[in-house]
Amino acid sequence: MTTSRFAPSPTGRLHLGHAYSAVLGRLAAGRWLLRIEDLDPGRARPEFVGGIMEDLAWLGLAPDGVPLVQSARVAAYADALEQLKREGLVYACFCTRADIAASLTAPHGDAGSGYPGTCRELADDPERRERTPHSWRLNSANAMAAAGLPGWREADGITFASDAAQIGDAILARKDAPSSYHLACVVDDAASGVDLVVRGADLRPSTPVQRLLQVLLGLPEPTYLHHPLVVHEDGRRLAKRDSAPTLAAMRDAGVDGRALADALATGLLPPSYRLAMP
Ligand code: GLU
Repeated sequence: MTTSRFAPSPTGRLHLGHAYSAVLGRLAAGRWLLRIEDLDPGRARPEFVGGIMEDLAWLGLAPDGVPLVQSARVAAYADALEQLKREGLVYACFCTRADIAASLTAPHGDAGSGYPGTCRELADDPERRERTPHSWRLNSANAMAAAGLPGWREADGITFASDAAQIGDAILARKDAPSSYHLACVVDDAASGVDLVVRGADLRPSTPVQRLLQVLLGLPEPTYLHHPLVVHEDGRRLAKRDSAPTLAAMRDAGVDGRALADALATGLLPPSYRLAMP
């Protein structure tokens, strides 16, 4: 049976884009799991976890099994990081955000692809690590040499090769946060038996690094379905901060959640929204 998951971060209330993603995942899979991605200590809030449950129930979407909560799984992520350390595929990085920004001529959204490699060749210094905040970065050159150029399969049958330039030395953990999104995502997808990842095309740039981590950690390869995003009619993205109504506000305004989910399943959006690739 195909297993998929909906993996929201509890950093705000869900909006129509989340509903679309959840509906597609539910439709595409026999088993549909809920994962709460609450590893960002600065942004995740427990009250939004309840909001996610409420919104899914309103849509008539019942996840199978017990939701997986990432903050309860740090030991599994630490084990995966240890494995990569033993294999010499990660290094400690002492750069601050300001250091990295100052050494770049162009802004980069992704902490991995824009990193100039300042700490890559440093000898390991456990004492400095003890005293100084640091992160653990993937040594992407070593990792690619160990793994080759792993491809990933999209749901339409097309396979893409991982793009070395896109991967970069991604951050896998920080001293104050036991795992980055990428590491936790691949560890959990494997632990939950997820074999179909259904998520927005805005996350497609994450797939090469996640596929590489799967190869390095000996984890199975899921199939990926990156769907178009729900945007405002004028093309603006929905964001937790913008004027897009949350699902909670739609419910309060009297919208029928189950009817909305049925419409989304056939590709019908409420007026003033449309689908677009990022
Ligand atoms: N937590 C991520 C988000 O809310 C989704 C991650 C994923 O589906 O891989 O954007």
